[in-house]
Amino acid sequence: MIPIQSKLPNTGTSIFTVMSALATEHKAINIGQGFPDFEMDQELAALASKKILQGHNQYAPMAGHIPLRESIAEKIFSLYNNQVSAADEITITPGGSYAIYTAFTTILQPGDEVIVLEPAYDCYIPNIIANGGIPVRVPLKFPDYTVDWDLVTSSITKKSKAIIINTPHNPTGTILSDDDMLTLQNILSNTNIFLISDEVYEHLVFDGKQHNSVLKYPELYNRSFVCFSFGKVYNCTGWKLGYCVAPKAYTAEFRRLHQFDAFCCFTPTQVALAEHLKKKERYLSLSSFMQEKRDFFLDKMKSSRFKLHHSSGSYFVCGTYEHISDMSSMDMAVHLTKTIGVATIPVSAFYQNGDDDKVLRFCFAKKEETLSKAAERLCQL
Ligand code: PMP
Ligand code: GLN
Repeated sequence: MIPIQSKLPNTGTSIFTVMSALATEHKAINIGQGFPDFEMDQELAALASKKILQGHNQYAPMAGHIPLRESIAEKIFSLYNNQVSAADEITITPGGSYAIYTAFTTILQPGDEVIVLEPAYDCYIPNIIANGGIPVRVPLKFPDYTVDWDLVTSSITKKSKAIIINTPHNPTGTILSDDDMLTLQNILSNTNIFLISDEVYEHLVFDGKQHNSVLKYPELYNRSFVCFSFGKVYNCTGWKLGYCVAPKAYTAEFRRLHQFDAFCCFTPTQVALAEHLKKKERYLSLSSFMQEKRDFFLDKMKSSRFKLHHSSGSYFVCGTYEHISDMSSMDMAVHLTKTIGVATIPVSAFYQNGDDDKVLRFCFAKKEETLSKAAERLCQL
């Protein structure tokens, strides 16, 4: 065999793969990996099937089905008051992670530093390293996981090329406030630092709060690649369809890579989404739908010895188990899967060096029946 010099020599298998495989092996209830166990939006499913039968089965344009980009531009204008160009600023991608990876590939040169707030969604650091970049990790403040902006400021060096943010946040369920966004804008002004903003949970913000998209802040948007995913909007994570919104010059470079990578995305779902996205109430009602699930899970967990953190958005809530065990969170997640049949995700997996505050992540984007059964078992600990 010819030896391969690995691009990711220190990276193992994704925690989601590990925990979901363990859940299957032990027939455990899976409230680990973030995917709904209920049906996706049925009207959209029917529409997509219809589009296949109607013959929308050939290549879409490289940047995406044009009416879909137009529907996205309308949505962005109505929600964030930003008139982005469907032709020049929106690119449809095979999922949100591909959009993030391609944004990194577009801007990074070997040795460039990227500021990452930890805990961080698991693809960011491998994406940076695979592109020759150097992750500069800045911890969020424990236990409320807010951003220490002074620490961010002091982490900026001459080599800083970008910072990546994620709101609503995976794994912690926190959201960035208007103040956070303005502080970030202030920190980045007069720098050449790009902003990559992961907003795949934009429609999952609870308790009447607002999603503060980078698209609402023109000065920030001018340095940004903003990444989205339809999987989280219509509960169809397996569709792997998303998009990247970026100013024209950045989009042109992004597409220079995209045209020789994916080239284009699955056509029938794009055609269906172009129509379905016009029904605003579908995505606007998502927050209250998922908030009910969060509240249902919290209620069922009331008598547990886990100390649950507050979740303001996303599919997730985190819980500290210091009163239950002093195992590491990885060991605890494996132990719970094997012994009580409940799979969760250890939050230490979202830190490059495995920092461990003894926290597990629970996904509440599940049927009530799944949440009740899992909570019942967790409450017995
Ligand atoms: N970012 C975050 C924070 C996520 O949780 C996920 C996974 N759902 C993604 C990006 C990737 O989205 P996609 O499945 O569309 O690639
Ligand atoms: N985003 C999902 C999560 O956080 C998992 C996606 C994946 O498995 N890569 O659980």
